[in-house]
Amino acid sequence: MRSNKSECIQVVIRCRPLSSTEIANGNEKVVQMIEREDRGEIIVHREGDEEPPKVFSFDRVFDERTNQEDLFEKTARAIVGNVFEGYNGTIFAYGQTGTGKTHTMEGELKPKEMRGVMTRCFESVFNCIEEQPNAQFLVRASYLEIYKENIRDLLSPNPKNKLIMHEKPDTGVYVKDLSSFICKNYEEMQAVQDTGRKNKSMGETKMNARSSRSHSVFTLTLEISELGPDGKDHIRVGKLNMVDLAGSERQSKTNA
Ligand code: ADP
Repeated sequence: MRSNKSECIQVVIRCRPLSSTEIANGNEKVVQMIEREDRGEIIVHREGDEEPPKVFSFDRVFDERTNQEDLFEKTARAIVGNVFEGYNGTIFAYGQTGTGKTHTMEGELKPKEMRGVMTRCFESVFNCIEEQPNAQFLVRASYLEIYKENIRDLLSPNPKNKLIMHEKPDTGVYVKDLSSFICKNYEEMQAVQDTGRKNKSMGETKMNARSSRSHSVFTLTLEISELGPDGKDHIRVGKLNMVDLAGSERQSKTNA
């Protein structure tokens, strides 16, 4: 995750509230979150435990009261800004099934407040474009899935076909024949994401029937053409990868 020029990678933690089932089961919160000036800390301790509390440090911590807007504004917003400057950024959520990755990355479309990081990135990109009438923009989207070491194009008419990864010395790693769609507004990009989501392989695991064992990568590519002080058009390209990782639980534990 590239959030500003001096800090290339930021790791933040978000703690979700206990679910109604957890409350009904008598589960208790064992995580305490502390926001320090330059970093965040979490302390994991169960009352009555003999073991000393475990302390973990992060760039920031977001407790269960953090809403979707707050999280976006304090993490992903800056990364979108950097993509407009021609940088590449990647955002992903990591955690065990049920910890809130989908809630954070995708959320719900309605009500608006429930929109997740991806939807908010789309909105933010097209809002920024509208604010810059003197530049020209081309926005493209691609969506791939990695499932059992195979790469598939989630936007292809034949999403079952396997694709191959290649590397070029000048542009780096790429997936051959991966389709990409030009999007002119937020709604078109959202529609592309919906198409891809429907093509995802959903695998039932013992830990959560809704959980997927695949990783997927949605890439938004932004080409910007702007008149420079030299009177010539200058083109820069930025990319934003939004990754939906499979649950981090150990494969042996889930019978996957
Ligand atoms: P994962 O994708 O990691 O398996 P989910 O995003 O599906 O987990 O979250 C599991 C459940 O917890 C869902 O019902 C989700 O709505 C809820 N949840 C997750 N994070 C939050 C949060 N920050 N606030 C409220 N509910 C949440």
